[in-house]
Amino acid sequence: MKFGGTSVEDAQAMGRTTAIVRSRREKGLEAVVVVSAMAKVTDLLLSAASAAGRGDKAGALAIGARLRHRHIDTSSALLQGERCVRVQQALHTEFDALDDLLRGIAAVGELTPRTNDLVVSFGERLSSRMMAEALEQQELQGVHVDARSCIITDASYGKAVPQNAAIEAKLAAIVLPLIEAGKTPVMGGFIGSTAEGVTTTLGRGGSDFTAALVGGGMHAGAIEIWTDVNGIMTTDPRICPDALRVKTISFEEAAELAYFGAKVLHPATILPAVQKSIPVWVLNSRNAENEGTKITAMAAKCASPFKSIAAKKRLTIIDVVASRMLMSHGYLKAVFDVFDKYKCAIDMVSTSEVSISLTVDSNQQLPEICAELAKIADVKMEGHKALVCLVGEDIRGHNGIAGQVFSAISHVNVRMISQGASEINMSFMIDEEDVEEAVRSLHNHFFANPDETVFDVANRVQLQGKA
Ligand code: ADP
Ligand code: ASP
Ligand code: MG
Repeated sequence: MKFGGTSVEDAQAMGRTTAIVRSRREKGLEAVVVVSAMAKVTDLLLSAASAAGRGDKAGALAIGARLRHRHIDTSSALLQGERCVRVQQALHTEFDALDDLLRGIAAVGELTPRTNDLVVSFGERLSSRMMAEALEQQELQGVHVDARSCIITDASYGKAVPQNAAIEAKLAAIVLPLIEAGKTPVMGGFIGSTAEGVTTTLGRGGSDFTAALVGGGMHAGAIEIWTDVNGIMTTDPRICPDALRVKTISFEEAAELAYFGAKVLHPATILPAVQKSIPVWVLNSRNAENEGTKITAMAAKCASPFKSIAAKKRLTIIDVVASRMLMSHGYLKAVFDVFDKYKCAIDMVSTSEVSISLTVDSNQQLPEICAELAKIADVKMEGHKALVCLVGEDIRGHNGIAGQVFSAISHVNVRMISQGASEINMSFMIDEEDVEEAVRSLHNHFFANPDETVFDVANRVQLQGKA
């Protein structure tokens, strides 16, 4: 059971989470609990680290003080008596260590990726400590496990790669005996450590990944991702408030959605589950009775060609025009080698005889990459682009789908199109500022008359009721 930042954001949310864990234990189920940092804490830790890196010691310590208050306040509201005193002592010790660390970074005036991971790890370390105590207090046998003792990774700080065999061995040695003793192990998501014990993180949103690693590594019967929406929706409900819950979705569809921007699941979450055929549920911790979304091996048959629409902003299009090397073989390889050298992931590619257009995350080392590409081709870069991606296993069975998609957004300028690479997604690139409008138009077109076997229309009925 993984609980995201909003599911542990304050004492009240932790109380709801406790009740959800109780409901599972009452059914006789054994659970491992994975929690994110309290909502917004990761962002704050990152800004404290970067303030310290700029030499702004006061700024960094001010954020540390804010975080200390929030955790102490939460523990006061959540825990009682002796337990509360003991936990608060531990919290103060941790926050003193964080302050020392921030002072150290500010003194050196340099923030390395390795130290950044150490700073940011405090979020999950502290939330999981408090959650374990809350479960213990409620007689749910909570026991804290430092995720860094189990989630063994390589040393790629900021986006560390889990080492599956080592993780399985650690889970078997550390977590399994606790389960067998009737305990509820609680660990922080997102964080891990190298075999040598250096703290690492799995990338933003990585607590979902931890849940899948633990679920997969322990051969769980199910993985539950508890968040702040009713499940995977037909699009981001922040863009379309009338988005519908998708009742079931296939592993492949969910993976495409996650990769192409649906924040509700970390892209890598699905893999460990698919490999072991473990069903994944996405559920709402504020509405625990709701059925959520079940992610399963096979897609349900559906009258609609699409299950959901995702959008990913902050992308850059790079056009590489090969005037000099026209038709020479090995050209594509030379271009991709440059991206490979910088470990830069490419989202979409489209080629003509003389040119290649690629899209990449704008946060990459783009000037360096372009300088290198310029040695073999003419290069042009355009930022502030976004990818919109429609996902559904039933695209194959529908004729004229591309026509429908592009007439629904005929007023939007489309810069690149891709369909076919995976048969279950159709994606295109537009200007960042057109995303909301494009997604709403597509949503209106494709989900106006939803197939009720796959989509839950209760939400829509409520919205109509309000109107
Ligand atoms: P958590 O902290 O629980 O991991 P996240 O903020 O990472 O939660 O992910 C949940 C959010 O994902 C939702 O609040 C929603 O705004 C967003 N989201 C984006 N696309 C979708 C989608 N297709 N279905 C549901 N939620 C989505
Ligand atoms: N706390 C981390 C983040 O905000 C990991 C997570 O919540 O999944 O990215
Ligand atoms: Mg998340």
